[in-house]
Amino acid sequence: MKEKSASPPIADPDLPSFDLGHVYDRWPNLNIPYGGGRQGGISDSARSPVTFLFTGESGERYGYHDRYDDEGTFLFFGEGQEGDMRFERGNLAIKSHSSRGKALHLFRTVVEGKGKAKRKLQKYLGEFIYQDHEWVTAPDLKGNLRQAIIFHLAPVARLERLELSPAVEPDEGMTLQEFRSRAIAASKVDGSGDSKKGSRTIYERSRAVRDYVLRRAAGKCELCEQPAPFRRKGGLLYLEPHHTTRLSDGGPDHPQFVAALCPSCHREVHYGEHAHEKNSALKDRLQVLELSDPS
Ligand SMILES: [Zn+2]
Ligand SMILES: [Zn+2]
Repeated sequence: MKEKSASPPIADPDLPSFDLGHVYDRWPNLNIPYGGGRQGGISDSARSPVTFLFTGESGERYGYHDRYDDEGTFLFFGEGQEGDMRFERGNLAIKSHSSRGKALHLFRTVVEGKGKAKRKLQKYLGEFIYQDHEWVTAPDLKGNLRQAIIFHLAPVARLERLELSPAVEPDEGMTLQEFRSRAIAASKVDGSGDSKKGSRTIYERSRAVRDYVLRRAAGKCELCEQPAPFRRKGGLLYLEPHHTTRLSDGGPDHPQFVAALCPSCHREVHYGEHAHEKNSALKDRLQVLELSDPS
């Protein structure tokens, strides 16, 4: 097999970026530049806005096959070798990534080379959002049956389209504070067992965050502070949601990590010469804005 060289990702600790299908060497390419433990299937970084997920060779871990379902949602087995799984450490990191402004980057282990040159590398499958989870009965490492968590992870691209879609629900007399409370609740997932029970869908949660952020901006770009350049069909001022801790926009991040930008600033903060500085300034501004809020 011809060995691919794993080139290091962009050395910007603020916005880890990976190429779809590219093969990375975990320690030098992921953990050294961006942090996180070098062992285990879930590696949450303390210093970069990223949680790495690794699905094993052929997707198998503890006898369970991680896989895509028919809708393109990735089913990822939780962490814990013996006994019932719990929402702590890696499992908690996945469940709380949106409210912590962390991106979930998923990799599949591949083996390259032969004999002594054989090594395990990580192929990038893309960025995902925690959607919900289910509990299943499955054997642990010792073969005892236990309760295990299967995470349902939605590809971020699915939610990116939603956020640019024109519909903003009628506000039904809600105040800005009410929009804010709804958005913050949407960024969190309650701690009670099965989230399918009465929980809002990932789409509704993303929309709740977007709708609040657009109202917080009150028609002005949150970077250049100029009025939105035009109105949408239906009359609302046009601004675009931007997620400051991720390369892809989409998902129910805490509103502290989401800005409403004019199209020009939005392009610049992604592709401009000073993208990094602009995004950093935006992050600082949002932090002040959201933390100075009494609620
Ligand atoms: Zn602007
Ligand atoms: Zn953006």
